[in-house]
Amino acid sequence: MLCSNNYLGLTNHPALKSAAVDGVNTHGAGSGSVRAIAGNMDIHIQLEERLAHFKRAEASLVYQTGYAVNSGLIPQLVGEQDLVISDELNHGSIIDGVRLSRAERAVYKHADTADLARVLDEAEKHTPQYRRMLVITDGVFSMDGDIAPLPELVELARHHEAQIVVDEAHAIGAIGPGGRGVLAAAGLEGEVDAIVGTLGKALGSYGAYVCGSARMVRYLLNVARSLIFSTAPPPPAVAAALAALELLQGEPGVTEDLRLAASALRRSLRSEGFPVQEGEMHIVPLVAREESAAMALCEAALNRGVFAQAIRPPTVPAGTSRLRLTAMATHTPEQMRAAARSLRQAAIEVGLDPALTGEPPRGRALAPSR
Ligand code: PMP
Repeated sequence: MLCSNNYLGLTNHPALKSAAVDGVNTHGAGSGSVRAIAGNMDIHIQLEERLAHFKRAEASLVYQTGYAVNSGLIPQLVGEQDLVISDELNHGSIIDGVRLSRAERAVYKHADTADLARVLDEAEKHTPQYRRMLVITDGVFSMDGDIAPLPELVELARHHEAQIVVDEAHAIGAIGPGGRGVLAAAGLEGEVDAIVGTLGKALGSYGAYVCGSARMVRYLLNVARSLIFSTAPPPPAVAAALAALELLQGEPGVTEDLRLAASALRRSLRSEGFPVQEGEMHIVPLVAREESAAMALCEAALNRGVFAQAIRPPTVPAGTSRLRLTAMATHTPEQMRAAARSLRQAAIEVGLDPALTGEPPRGRALAPSR
């Protein structure tokens, strides 16, 4: 399995499984209602308190999914007469939140701070002046596995008095001190307006959250449509997420195994001739370019026992279809070596040169396809 977001292997951890079962026994299988009517349970509040503590934030708010956070949060932070500025490779849920916001939109080149500075400079000259501006970025890019240039983004946003939101869906539990994410790794906790994260990836459960000021959370609780109009997360998912946080806080070294697995994967791919960078990032794209090539590579790898799903437009821009490999803390170096060998054989079988099937060069300019 080389394409799951279950980065720490927690979905099958005994502590999460028994917490989920206990959650059913004490609170039932479902929440029965939206939060604002009868769905608000003590464990939702406990999870929010624990998340805020874990993320060193004033408050947090738990949503049903990360999609619900992004599509509900962005329209509440910006609207008509505002500008929202988004990295060209941001996740689809951010793109949909931006669309729902009715704000004017600008896209900057992937992770390109000079291009963002240009957009912000131009925005300042805009007449009539925008009421508000919002910069939004994935923390770890979901399909590329690289990290946003957060110190520069925060600095630029501050300089231009723009709000900034970071989506840590692929960072929470996976990187940073004790798995606290990319902002913690960069020493920037508390320096952004809102942090988004999911409970369904490294944390092994289901659901998502936003962290920020108590004032913002109180506001969202009252106005975020995706939260208000959708049934509250079910008790087993909430209880399992609580158990995952407990585990991370009790064993902050648990993310170390993921880093080791990620570097073993990268090393193994390099020794099989794939151009990927050394390092510890757990998402590794093997870009095959054409959709048909990515599909064929996926099939050939599967025939050799490696499951690495092909990712195609609209999830990635046209011409950059890929296998998106993900390491898990539970993988062994031997498994990574065997998988890399199989991937090399699969690439050759379908006529792809491994030397040309790897990570995209960073900082490239891609025409946004979404
Ligand atoms: N943000 C990012 C960056 C993601 O990759 C994803 C999930 N693929 C989401 C948000 C949505 O999270 P969820 O699956 O909880 O809806």
